[in-house]
Amino acid sequence: MSLRDVLIDELRDLYSAENQLVKALPKTAKGAQSEELKQIFTDHLSQTRGQVERLKQIFEHLGKKPTGKHCNGMEGAIDEVKEALEEDEEGALLDAGIVGAAARVEHYEIAGYSAAILIATTLGETEVVALLKQTLAEEQNAAKLVMSTAKGILKQAYAQEADEAEPEKKPKSAKEKKSEADSKKDEREAAKNLTRSAQEVVAAEPGKKKK
Ligand code: FE
Ligand code: ZN
Ligand code: FE
Repeated sequence: MSLRDVLIDELRDLYSAENQLVKALPKTAKGAQSEELKQIFTDHLSQTRGQVERLKQIFEHLGKKPTGKHCNGMEGAIDEVKEALEEDEEGALLDAGIVGAAARVEHYEIAGYSAAILIATTLGETEVVALLKQTLAEEQNAAKLVMSTAKGILKQAYAQEADEAEPEKKPKSAKEKKSEADSKKDEREAAKNLTRSAQEVVAAEPGKKKK
């Protein structure tokens, strides 16, 4: 495997991530309650389409095809946005739940593009770097917009909460039960790594098996 292959892998992962977002952003814009959030997601949908095109341009330049890798991380991040949208809540309190999930999506992209830029820079791929930097700037801007808009939404949510009657407790769905059980499993599996020194824990880990 060459460093160039690592770059292609990163870019294919990003290409899948952007395509997943082209599919998911309309639902997010529709589901968001505030006009400002709707606008942010709608604008970012347009930008994201451009980002897909930019990646195609990069693959053309590199003489490779853009498909070949599904981005599992983005699938998970989008799932969390969906969960927030499905909450039985209204108005600013629903939007409040979307903020963290939407920020995760943008920061996940920021991480991916930052890594790809670093690799492309190392390889001396200046044209690729320039294109990736344009997208990175858009992602950073989107993340900032979500956060600055969140401030007002959260204040509203806090006020709304005071007006609302205490909702009746609904039974947990199968999905919520699984999530709860998995979170306990996460805690259990971390337990033995929390008590010993970090060095000890690492040393006890079985190494990579030779194929
Ligand atoms: Fe993007
Ligand atoms: Zn990914
Ligand atoms: Fe984005």
